[in-house]
Amino acid sequence: MANPKRKLSRASKGHRRAHLALDRLQLVRCAHCSTMIRPHTICANCGYYRTKQVVVASSPN
Ligand SMILES: [Zn+2]
Repeated sequence: MANPKRKLSRASKGHRRAHLALDRLQLVRCAHCSTMIRPHTICANCGYYRTKQVVVASSPN
């Protein structure tokens, strides 16, 4: 099997992984009920997308 020629140092590994962090989740306020939702999605709290109700909101309990 093909193998790496030499051991990768901890520093090299760290430098490569410096760019692997996940982005923070972007949230906007729902225009209808003001809960924080992900943009361009139907609000899970009230079932509205922008100005219209598109689904009947499911109650969390
Ligand atoms: Zn809403």
